[in-house]
Amino acid sequence: MSAGVLAGKVALVTGAGSGIGRATCRILARDGAKVIAADRNLKAAQETVQELGSDRSVALEVDVSSAQSVQSSVAEALKKFQQAPTIVVNSAGITRDGYLLKMPEKDYDDVYGVNLKGTFLVTQAFAKAMIEQKLQNGSIVNLSSIVAKMNNVGQANYAATKAGVISFTEVASKEFGKFGIRVNCILPGYIDTPMVAVVPDSVKQEVVKRCPLGRLGQPEEIAEVIAFLASPQSSYVNGAAIEVTGGLK
Ligand code: NAD
Repeated sequence: MSAGVLAGKVALVTGAGSGIGRATCRILARDGAKVIAADRNLKAAQETVQELGSDRSVALEVDVSSAQSVQSSVAEALKKFQQAPTIVVNSAGITRDGYLLKMPEKDYDDVYGVNLKGTFLVTQAFAKAMIEQKLQNGSIVNLSSIVAKMNNVGQANYAATKAGVISFTEVASKEFGKFGIRVNCILPGYIDTPMVAVVPDSVKQEVVKRCPLGRLGQPEEIAEVIAFLASPQSSYVNGAAIEVTGGLK
């Protein structure tokens, strides 16, 4: 990506305190955007901001699964940079793996609340703000997962939400196109972040064996694709679901 391609843009990244979200903040700031690092874990978001510098980033506490929290985050975000973000990255996500017959309702609800409802709440709130401010060239990037296609045993809740993110993205792309807002999603493979750190080594070894590139991905390798989707260089990419998996299917 060419330096400064996102100059003058404000980006909001959820899940910004860790993994792919933090790497995305780093890459978007490198490309010139001002970044709102949003996370339920405020301390982690503040660490991201510390790394980027407070002149071009601010931390924001938000629970994406709560409409009330997302609403106040819009107000906060507008206060911080006097302009609604035109780049929104929905990276907040959780797993609560378990076999279906033993899956507690709470684990299903929690995963749904963050991964799918959270994507809905943040997308709706910030798209409204962009449209109200008549901002053009918006880009929303959602994080699905290759698990939406692999449908791993023990991940019914996670797989269902990530498949949902693909459909949600496509509908949003159709509804928002006329406002100059593009909506795309990425299906990462297995990326070396705290989320994957808890996956048993035997599973990771199997993944690496099946992956044509023979390794896990790095969060920056997802963030670079997000930055492309956020930039004018992808101006005709809309409603896409892009696999970034090293070839893992
Ligand atoms: P991570 O666990 O490293 O980071 C997730 C971040 O989301 C954390 O900082 C956490 O505090 C935040 N978060 C959780 N619940 C939240 C809530 N309710 N409100 C706001 N923030 C909340 O995860 P990651 O690996 O960086 O994953 C980022 C996204 O990419 C997720 O949506 C995940 O499902 C997806 N993904 C990850 C992988 C992978 O291999 N790591 C693969 C495919 C998809």
